[in-house]
Amino acid sequence: MEQTLIVIKPDGVVRGLTGEIITRFEKAGLKMVAAKMLMVTKEHASKHYPADREELWTGIGNKTLDNYKALELDAIKLLGTDDPKKIGDIVRVWLLDYIASGPVYAAVFEGPHAVELIRKICGHTLPLLSAPGTIRGDYSFDSAYLANKGQRAIKNLIHASGTLEEAKYEIPLWFGPKEIQKYKRTDENIMA
Ligand code: GDP
Ligand code: MG
Repeated sequence: MEQTLIVIKPDGVVRGLTGEIITRFEKAGLKMVAAKMLMVTKEHASKHYPADREELWTGIGNKTLDNYKALELDAIKLLGTDDPKKIGDIVRVWLLDYIASGPVYAAVFEGPHAVELIRKICGHTLPLLSAPGTIRGDYSFDSAYLANKGQRAIKNLIHASGTLEEAKYEIPLWFGPKEIQKYKRTDENIMA
């Protein structure tokens, strides 16, 4: 049994997709045990995307750099550097701006393999590459090209914890223990 965090990002909320997104998790059998709508402060965003997760930002920097190369965009000219870690740090700032740009809807879902299951329903990070039937594949066409050219984060509607370890770090940042409910879904008897 796992718990995982999802955050419908500001583009998902302003496009009126909150209900549609939550429905998909509920229909898959995942149990919503916490939920709220809020404006994220820069401080909160900064904890959610921690600056000291070096491997994360170097990884995102490398991916971004590869995208720039594939698109024949000049990273030095556009971003002032071709160092993956420095580019990761720049993307991090775009992400902080994005997640704090409007209200978000955060929720915790619980179920067997909840982390992996939710990631599958969300789809690939890049909407252009995410399969039809997934949230990102069905409701966004944003791409590394558009985002990097616009010097902004990829608008992919939703954040979902990437691993169980990430979920255990993230959930307490968003919800206190009293905000997380315990109850039994009627269909638990069938799939348990
Ligand atoms: P996720 O777990 O699927 O959301 O992806 P990551 O944890 O790798 O990245 C976090 C977020 O950063 C993504 O959801 C995107 O909004 C954004 N992002 C990731 N890679 C890139 C990139 O190459 N360029 C830009 N502009 N944004 C990116
Ligand atoms: Mg992630």
